[in-house]
Amino acid sequence: MPTTPNKDYYATLGVKKTASVEEIRKAFRKQARRYHPDVNPGDKRAEEKFKEISEANDVLSDPKKRKVYDQLGFYSDQIDPAQAAAYAQQQGGGGGGRPAVDFDGFDFSGFGGPGHQAGQQAGAGWGSFKDIFSGIFTGAQQGQQPRGPQTGTDLEYQATVDFWTAIRGGLARVQINRHETCPTCHGQAHTGGVTQCPECNGTGQVTQMGGRMKFNIPCPRCNGTGRTSSTCSTCHGEGTVSRSEAVEFRIKAGTRDGQRIRLQGKGNAGVNGGPTGDLYLIVRTGTHPVFTREGDDIHLTVPVTIAEASLGAKVDVPTIDGRAHMKIPPGTQSGQKLRMRERGVENAQHPSQRGDQIVTVEVVVPLLQDERSREIMRELAKLNNQDPRVELFDKM
Ligand SMILES: [Zn+2]
Ligand SMILES: [Zn+2]
Repeated sequence: MPTTPNKDYYATLGVKKTASVEEIRKAFRKQARRYHPDVNPGDKRAEEKFKEISEANDVLSDPKKRKVYDQLGFYSDQIDPAQAAAYAQQQGGGGGGRPAVDFDGFDFSGFGGPGHQAGQQAGAGWGSFKDIFSGIFTGAQQGQQPRGPQTGTDLEYQATVDFWTAIRGGLARVQINRHETCPTCHGQAHTGGVTQCPECNGTGQVTQMGGRMKFNIPCPRCNGTGRTSSTCSTCHGEGTVSRSEAVEFRIKAGTRDGQRIRLQGKGNAGVNGGPTGDLYLIVRTGTHPVFTREGDDIHLTVPVTIAEASLGAKVDVPTIDGRAHMKIPPGTQSGQKLRMRERGVENAQHPSQRGDQIVTVEVVVPLLQDERSREIMRELAKLNNQDPRVELFDKM
């Protein structure tokens, strides 16, 4: 008999074969506290041990899985419990433990050999039979097998749009990396003709041993199709290649910072005729040295003289449409905000609506250079001798 890499889950958890589910769970919890990766950061051995006890617990704490394990000496999701039961019955009835299924002449050389670790490499042989049962090792991972149509994944990029384009609308560009259909194999992931799978001789099935029982499972190399073909060397079997691309897109007038734009079919290419994914752009609007945008409103600070602020004036201020008149009411204070209705940004959803322009007035104090000016200022102070700090003291 060949030795099989069966694991003794009972020994792993340190429980008797007759242990109750409660005892098994308790044993697992105790070991888990000791080997949990959180308590052993970076300890590879503890991590390995934790995986082992988790696997043992997974099987033994589930009555159905445990039954299969008890009957066969191993467990796999691929095994039909009825098959396992039939096997166990035959074992019991046979008396001498003779295998009910003949496995003479079966080639065991592929098991557990050097191919075990290198199993992910194409043609490096098979992993242990446990790997095959657990479905880790599949033909699809080798990229040798034509797969069904797969939709390409969506992409998300931030796209910076300059201040004026976001306000007025227009074309913008963003540089992205996306997967395109491979030009060599046209997304088929393989080249040349399809040939019979050498692993299963085209049957799509291989026979594996579990304990002393034979199981037919889908051939891992060809994924049960019986056919293989050579992997495309351009895309290494991916069916797509990565490419940098400048994508041009149109944005509406009034597009705001953070807005999401969907460009259908500009994501990653699908495989085997699957549709292309979408590209989502998050708009980042650029800044301006004078204007600050908040939603549809434009904010800016406008300096005024003492005379303009105290006497009132009509001044020219910049707006996003160019120069515009703004009325400064008499007695305007520094820091006061004046609203210019509908001088802001057109709303992207409702183009007939516009935001406002909000002007923060900044009174500029003149630097007096001559005696005459200082004389006038002193005279002005005498005529208007209110104390602006009175309120401060009133509140004390
Ligand atoms: Zn290709
Ligand atoms: Zn095959």
